[in-house]
Amino acid sequence: MNYDVVIIGSGIVGASIARELSRYKLKIAVIDKASELPAGASRANSSMIHGGFDDKPGSVKAKFCVPGNKLWHKLKDELDVHLDECGSYVCAFSDDEVRHLETLLAQGKANGAPGVAIISGDELRSKEPNVSPEIVAALWSPEAGIINNFEAVNAMIESARINGAELFLETRALGLMLDDKGDVRGVSTDKGEFSAPVVINAGGVHSGEIASWAGDNSFRIIPTKGEYFLLDRATKGFIHSFLFSCPSKAGKGITVLQTAEGNLMSGPTATEQDDPEDRSTTPEGLAEVLKGARRLVPNFPVNMNITTFAGVRANTESGDFEISVLAKPRGFVNVAGIKSPGFTSAPAIAEYISGLVREEFADRLTFTPNEKFIPERTNIPRFLYMDMDARKALAEKDPAYAQIVCRCETVTEGQVLEAIRRGARTVSAVKMMTRAGTGRCQGGFCCPRVAEILSRELGLSLDEVTRHGGKSKLLVGKTKEFLLKKEGVRHE
Ligand SMILES: Cc1cc2nc3c(=O)[nH]c(=O)nc-3n(C[C@H](O)[C@H](O)[C@H](O)COP(=O)(O)OP(=O)(O)OC[C@H]3O[C@@H](n4cnc5c(N)ncnc54)[C@H](O)[C@@H]3O)c2cc1C
Repeated sequence: MNYDVVIIGSGIVGASIARELSRYKLKIAVIDKASELPAGASRANSSMIHGGFDDKPGSVKAKFCVPGNKLWHKLKDELDVHLDECGSYVCAFSDDEVRHLETLLAQGKANGAPGVAIISGDELRSKEPNVSPEIVAALWSPEAGIINNFEAVNAMIESARINGAELFLETRALGLMLDDKGDVRGVSTDKGEFSAPVVINAGGVHSGEIASWAGDNSFRIIPTKGEYFLLDRATKGFIHSFLFSCPSKAGKGITVLQTAEGNLMSGPTATEQDDPEDRSTTPEGLAEVLKGARRLVPNFPVNMNITTFAGVRANTESGDFEISVLAKPRGFVNVAGIKSPGFTSAPAIAEYISGLVREEFADRLTFTPNEKFIPERTNIPRFLYMDMDARKALAEKDPAYAQIVCRCETVTEGQVLEAIRRGARTVSAVKMMTRAGTGRCQGGFCCPRVAEILSRELGLSLDEVTRHGGKSKLLVGKTKEFLLKKEGVRHE
């Protein structure tokens, strides 16, 4: 398999880079070990499009956060992604914390974050009546927003594919291939070799290990877990935006937010761990989240919780992003250690990487503009948000839109079929692309229906359908056969 560029990782960073590079006539392969997207940190995070006041001026993070925020406000229409442009507040409970707000305000101004201002506790409460009466002031950031991260990653990689990039899921990079001169020749994977003179490391929490394949041990990834509560969408309107605690050395602290789809959510913790793949939640972590949530919103309705989850940050010792082109081997680019505000920054990082690759590798690649580049893509119809006339019109055109599959999120069979047409192969992929299974019953009702549709459409037997690829089978056989087997064993 011969390519111009291989991107390892299709989180928001790898997908955004693929889309930017697809503005040129390049043969691009994006490989990801996961069976659906998003899979890594881009799947489990706070989904905030940050205002840009939190990062130290001069840092790499500060360079990309405000430009990334601006790009998302444009991309939400171009890529048809839900972005709630609700703004955010950092809440102060004491004079000390108010002084900290002033530092953040100055940082925001230095970083070019538009409209940041300090408001009184009473003004905050006039907008958000459920916040603590003890909050004395807040930093308001009007350009901050909350994005549907599942949609955003799928939209970004779909746009890259529309423009010619190829996506290989369930493909794990195993090592770097070098030529006789010791320069990049490609990537070896569990699905064979991908030859390319340029390889981009966008491997998230694994980006340190991938960099070491190129002999770069200049940074280390410290996996840092963040745990969350996610509440029923019936909590919509309990708060309307994103509430931060005052940041400390440990990070941005516990937040309370309303997701782009209207669920109340709280988290994350920040616990360093050895295992980059450990996304379990813990009683201690969740107790910390609840304490932090109740500090900001005393009557936080945790009884409406529908699930808990955790994401793992690709923290670095420097605390900053690690973006570099290696002098040796030629052809290797690190876009590593992309922790928060990485989701916000991704489109700006991608523009920068595209420029860098053109500047650095003119001897290895030819950059001819792709005149057929299409910036727009449209999302799978969101039946939940349509009025009755629009629903009727859609169902008349295609009766599959008259069949409800997920009752909690009002997802129709038509949407599931469209997700499959766009590449979904697992129950979890359908969930990421349509929200079937993200509601109150967490898939209790729709999971068997989605599995049936996948089995019918993909020509698989039901026991071949998986939740998220690999061995994650939903069914292992028929109860009767199982019992007969057991009986047989007993008689023997
Ligand atoms: C708890 C938490 C809260 C956060 N909150 C915010 C926020 O509110 N706002 C914000 O802007 N940012 C936030 N972030 C940061 C943001 O989520 C990340 O910066 C961003 O998602 C990183 O994207 P990525 O593409 O670099 O990594 P990932 O999304 O982790 O993607 C990396 C991909 O590489 C693949 N991969 C790894 N190794 C291999 C291999 N060997 N072969 C093939 N594929 C491989 C993985 O499967 C994965 O899909 C948060 C992060 C966490 C964890």
